[in-house]
Amino acid sequence: MEIKRRDFLKGIAGGAALALAQPALALAREKSRLPDAVGILYDATLCIGCKACMVGCRKANNLPAETIGPQKLWDNPIDLSARTLNIIKKYVSGTGEYKDREINGFSFIKRHCMHCVDPACVSACPASAMTKDKKIGIVSYNKDACIGCRYCQVACPFNIPKFEWDNPFPQIVKCQLCNHLLAKGELPGCCDACPTGASLFGPAAALLEEAKRRQKMQPGSYYDFPVSTITSGKIQYQQAAQYIPRIYGENEVGGAQVLMLAGVPFEKLGLPDLPSGSYVALAENIQHTLYKGMILPIVAFGGLIFLVKRSDKNKE
Ligand code: SF4
Ligand code: SF4
Ligand code: SF4
Repeated sequence: MEIKRRDFLKGIAGGAALALAQPALALAREKSRLPDAVGILYDATLCIGCKACMVGCRKANNLPAETIGPQKLWDNPIDLSARTLNIIKKYVSGTGEYKDREINGFSFIKRHCMHCVDPACVSACPASAMTKDKKIGIVSYNKDACIGCRYCQVACPFNIPKFEWDNPFPQIVKCQLCNHLLAKGELPGCCDACPTGASLFGPAAALLEEAKRRQKMQPGSYYDFPVSTITSGKIQYQQAAQYIPRIYGENEVGGAQVLMLAGVPFEKLGLPDLPSGSYVALAENIQHTLYKGMILPIVAFGGLIFLVKRSDKNKE
């Protein structure tokens, strides 16, 4: 898969900040999912678009509704924002008759932080305000360390972090996999609220195995699908849909702890079509190549000499 120019620049932005701000972080980067990593498997074919996960997310994170219209009756955000960490969107094509079909069909899709294996936001942050947990791999944000540069926003290939533009003391806002609830032994709000198991919490390795199991299912046949967590014991017995042969998040930009399954190609569902390699690693390689043999400092020094000489000539 080719890297698009905009996505490439995002990778470079993350990597450039890494090189300029804190090269030591590069040494701490993860190359694969941690053994105890946790995550979410979102299965669009099980999603009924009820948005209970969005309500659960608001409740879990104490976030107000995003109302529209003069009477402010409905919570109806149109995208992720500083007040919406998780959103369900809908794809419709043609007559929109068939669920999980690309042609004349429809599908839901859930968007929130992917909790990347090698997160560009963490690498880009010059203040270590974005960090990846060394045990369970959750990417979280520390408002006290943040300097408001928004490098994380620029670097994220999934366009996830949002900024509180309307706050005099703004913060970056994004899903932190409800780490405050996990610490108390509770479930992420979205997975707890989801009635169908479309949002499923669990160890990332087990979720990947589950996603692979579903890809082998015979469409139309009945199978067991766990609800809330992969280990909860709550099971729904239902028909398997026709999945597209891709587990989104398995490999994209180095992989993620949030995985997705769907019956409609992910690009149609609004997810970026990203390559499998980590952007952070790519940017780092480019920087290492430039610095190798001191090429970059020599070029910079040459440029300075040229400017000084030109300035002297002008004075003469
Ligand atoms: S999706 Fe974006 S914000 Fe979330 S961990 Fe990955 S790079 Fe960071
Ligand atoms: S894990 Fe928590 S913060 Fe993230 S989308 Fe789910 S409920 Fe929201
Ligand atoms: S709660 Fe579950 S079924 Fe309802 S919209 Fe969210 S993911 Fe889909």
